[in-house]
Amino acid sequence: MLSVRNLEVVYDDVVLALRGVSLDVPDGRIVALLGANGAGKSTLLRALSGLLDVHDGEIRKGDVTLDGHSVATMSATGLAKRGVKHVLEGRRVFKELTVEENLRIGAHSARRDLATNLERVYDLFPRLIERRTGTAGYLSGGEQQMLAIGRALMSGPRFLLLDEPSLGLAPLVVAQIRDIILEINRQGTAVLLVEQNATMALQIAEHGYVMETGRIVMDRPAAELLADDDVREFYLGLRPDDGVDGARSSFRDVKHYKRRKRWAS
Ligand code: ATP
Repeated sequence: MLSVRNLEVVYDDVVLALRGVSLDVPDGRIVALLGANGAGKSTLLRALSGLLDVHDGEIRKGDVTLDGHSVATMSATGLAKRGVKHVLEGRRVFKELTVEENLRIGAHSARRDLATNLERVYDLFPRLIERRTGTAGYLSGGEQQMLAIGRALMSGPRFLLLDEPSLGLAPLVVAQIRDIILEINRQGTAVLLVEQNATMALQIAEHGYVMETGRIVMDRPAAELLADDDVREFYLGLRPDDGVDGARSSFRDVKHYKRRKRWAS
C-alpha cells in the first residue's frame, strides 16, 4: 500500500499547497483523484513519487509511506526502484529520440526485465510497434501519451501515478486510454489517476478522492461519488436526473442548466 498521512507541502517556503492530506492507494486497485485546477493534485503525486524537490517543494508535516515504511525523503529514483512511477502531466517524451529509445530509457531501473517489459508495452500499445523506429516528436498527442505511459511501465511499477492522461485528447483516444488503464490494472499494477475527465475516472476507479485548495473534501467509493447529486451537479457538470453516462433527460435540462453554487463550500 502506498499512503500519505496528514501531509503538508510547501513550495518556495511560502506556498502551502497541501494542508493535511491523507490518502491510500492499495495494491492492485484504481484510485481516482479529482479536483479543480490548483487544488493540489499534481503536488500530491510529486510527494508520492519523490519529485517535490525538483519544484522547490518540501514536506512540512505528515508522512509518505510504502508498505508502512516512511519514504518521505526518498528520491524519485529510489521510489521508482521500489515500484512507484509517475507519468507527468503533458505527455513528456524525448521528442528527438525514437519510440523504442524512449522506452529503453524507461527501463533504467529494471534492466534485467527489459525484454519482457518491452513486449508487455508493445502488447498494450500495438500502435507503438508500428512507430517503433519513428521519432517520438512526430507522434500524435494520443500516441505520445501512450508512449509516456509505456515508458513508465518499462520499470515494471507496482504503483502507477497518472497525471491527467486524457487531457486534450479526442473522445475515441480517451476511451482507448481508459481501456489501457484497466488492462494495466488487470495485470496487477495499482493506479492513482488524476483526471479532469471525472466521469471516466470514477467509472473505472474503485475509490475516489476529491481535493479542494489543498485538502481532501471527499473520500468515498467511486460508485458513490458518481451517484452523489452534489458531485454530479457541481463537479461532473451533470444534473441529478442525468444518466450515469451523462445522458440528460431532456433538452430543457441542458438549456437552463447553470452551475449555481460551489459544492463542498
Ligand atoms: P492543475 O490541474 O492546474 O495542475 P493541481 O490540482 O495539480 O492543478 P497543483 O499543481 O498541485 O494543483 O498546485 C497546487 C498549488 O501549488 C497551487 O496553488 C499552485 O499554484 C502551487 N504550485 C504548484 N507547483 C508550484 C511550484 N513549482 N512552485 C510554487 N507553487 C506551486
